[in-house]
This record gives sequence, C-alpha cells and structure tokens, in this order.
Amino acid sequence: MTIDKDSLQKAVNATIASFSGVKDGKNADYIPALAQVPSRLFGLAVVLADGTVIEAGDSRQEFAIESISKVFTLARVLDQIGPAALRQKIGADPTGEPFNSVMAIELHKGKPQNPFVNAGAIATTSLVAAKSKDDRWAQIISTYGDFAGRPLTVNEVIYKSEADTNQHNRGIAWLLQSYGYMYSDPMEATDVYTRQCSVNITAADLATMGATLANGGVNPRTGKQVVQSSNVPKILAEMCMSGLYDSTGDWMYKVGLPGKSGVGGGILAVVPGKLAIGAYSPPLDEFGNSVRGQLAAQALSEQFGLNLFARKA
Ligand code: GLN
Repeated sequence: MTIDKDSLQKAVNATIASFSGVKDGKNADYIPALAQVPSRLFGLAVVLADGTVIEAGDSRQEFAIESISKVFTLARVLDQIGPAALRQKIGADPTGEPFNSVMAIELHKGKPQNPFVNAGAIATTSLVAAKSKDDRWAQIISTYGDFAGRPLTVNEVIYKSEADTNQHNRGIAWLLQSYGYMYSDPMEATDVYTRQCSVNITAADLATMGATLANGGVNPRTGKQVVQSSNVPKILAEMCMSGLYDSTGDWMYKVGLPGKSGVGGGILAVVPGKLAIGAYSPPLDEFGNSVRGQLAAQALSEQFGLNLFARKA
C-alpha cells in the first residue's frame, strides 16, 4: 500500500481519538518523578524517510526518553567498536527476564546478552570511547541531538529523582564489573546512563530519531549521516529481539516492527526505508511498555500494512 500523507494524517488523528479513553496501565513509580506526570498525555508522530512530519495530540510534549536512549548510545558505540566487538562484549539475544533483572546476569555468567536490558545498556554506555566522564556525556548528548535534528537537554528533576533511587542499577554495574563486562568505572557509567535516561524528547523527536534509522542512518530533516548505514540493521535486529523486554515476542506478533520502549511512556517503531512512529503515553503495562503507545503502533501497522513479515503487494 502506498502511504499518502493525507490518509496518514487522518489515521494518526483517528488513532489518538480512538485510544484516548483507554485507562489501562499505570505510570512508572519506582522513579518517583515519573509517577507525577499526568497520565492523560497522549502524543503520536510519524516521520517519513523524506522528512515529512505528521503528528497529533500531545506530540510536542516533552518527556523522559528513558530506555529508548539505549538505542542511540548503541548507535554511537557500534560506530566506534563495530558489530563483532559489540556482539562479543554485550550480545544480541533476549534474556527473557525483566529489564532490570540481576538473575539474567547470573544465568549468563555476567554477559548482559543485549544492549537494551539495563545491564547491557550500562555496559554499552561504558564502551563509549571517551577520555573523561564529561567527554562520554558530551558524545552521548550530541549523538541524540543529531538523531533528533535539534539540541536536546536533560530533565534535571527526573535526573535527580532517578539518581537518588538508582541503587539497583549501581548494583548491576558492580556485578558486571565483577564478571569483566564493565568497560569504564562502574559508577561513572551508571551516572552517565542515568543522565542519558533523563533526556527530554517529544513524540515528534522520537519519530525523527527513528526515521533516521529508517533512512539508513541519515537524518531526513538535516541530511546528516548520524550512524554508519551498515550498523543500522544491527540496531534494528537488537530492537526486534529485545526492544520491549520480555514482551518483545508479543509486540512482534502484533506489530511486526523493530520497536523500543521506555518507562517514561515513549515507544518507537521503525519501518526500514519508509518511516518511524513515535508515541507517548505514560501508563505502562506490567513489562514497562506504554499501553496506548503499543495500541497506536499496532493500529498504524495494521492499517498501512507495515508489518515486516507480511507479503507486500
Ligand atoms: N532509567 C530507567 C532504569 O534504569 C530506564 C528503564 C526503562 O525505561 N525500561 O530503570
């Protein structure tokens, strides 16, 4: 099916209207500041590989990127160390366990298995080739800005709330260190990781970041090559296997697209060569994935025949 902009705009508007009333799920509350965010917020954006932006609802509302950040730090590290080293040091397999599982680390003798569980993400942050903590952070925030096509900033309230309560992640970092899977000072990596999770984005930013992946690593709005095109399929493969943690299989079954969620309520879905969907709605299911965000991505995937595994006419 060809995707014309008018029908896409209508579908995006209708998707917001039809799922606004869904009240399932609840905001993440293990990070206290996230519990305070209004649950009714609902934004949806699609950015096409030619840079066209289609959006509705609260698509310009800023929210914390949280785990979706892991995709873009991975991009940076893949460009620096290459796919073979990434696969050996982090991995590309699902854990079948929740995103912050310590048991998964123990079960695999310290190997994080993939860059999207917290263990793999903190290890990925530790792999950024940096001269100092400031340099590590500067590379990460500028990479995210290049993906979004605008400079991004940290939500300091979320950062403080998360930094005050991230003892579990610090424990994960020490455990990785004990197994030889931590590549910089573990507390430095955890703090930079916590900061990267607290970056503010909008659904429109998220769709632009995804459209950069859909477009072979070139941001379609700025024309900048942000990640090597040969690394994009590696990133999308990781998203297909682990983007929504231990419910990634259900997501693939329903939506059929590489996706990534964050506990801030954001969800990204990428259609290679075509477009990306960025959705935002804070209430989460038991796995930590936005309820209305998943419904929105599924509706658009079905309506426009986006499922990667479906035969295209
Ligand atoms: N910052 C959050 C954490 O480390 C991110 C988790 C997520 O979005 N799934 O727990």
